[in-house]
Amino acid sequence: MIAAAAIASAALSFTSPAPATLHGDLDAAAAYWGQSVPAQCSSEAAAFGKLPGLVLGQTKIPDPTATEPCEMVIERGLTKRLRCLTVVHEYGHWLGLGHAKSKRSPMYPVIGDGAVVPECEHP
Ligand SMILES: [Zn+2]
Repeated sequence: MIAAAAIASAALSFTSPAPATLHGDLDAAAAYWGQSVPAQCSSEAAAFGKLPGLVLGQTKIPDPTATEPCEMVIERGLTKRLRCLTVVHEYGHWLGLGHAKSKRSPMYPVIGDGAVVPECEHP
């Protein structure tokens, strides 16, 4: 799960192109993490949905002892960059990663200006 702080200002300060579609975002996430298919995922899917409050994305961390479909829900209406960063974050959860303390990591629990993910800046 990831929440947003100062979404508008963070989004408006970036003008670089980002992937145009959720599918492109999944590709960007796979490239960023250097792993195309999380081992526990029998399938991968990302869909738009309406999430509560400032939550931008949601996914279940796959059970490491099982193989199951991996699905994430991404809030509608995000800028391309923010949407891409959110997909990269949730994909990290698919890979079993928890939240990071560094604001430069896409696994920081609040997305903002600090996250450094080149794949989300230049598709
Ligand atoms: Zn999270």
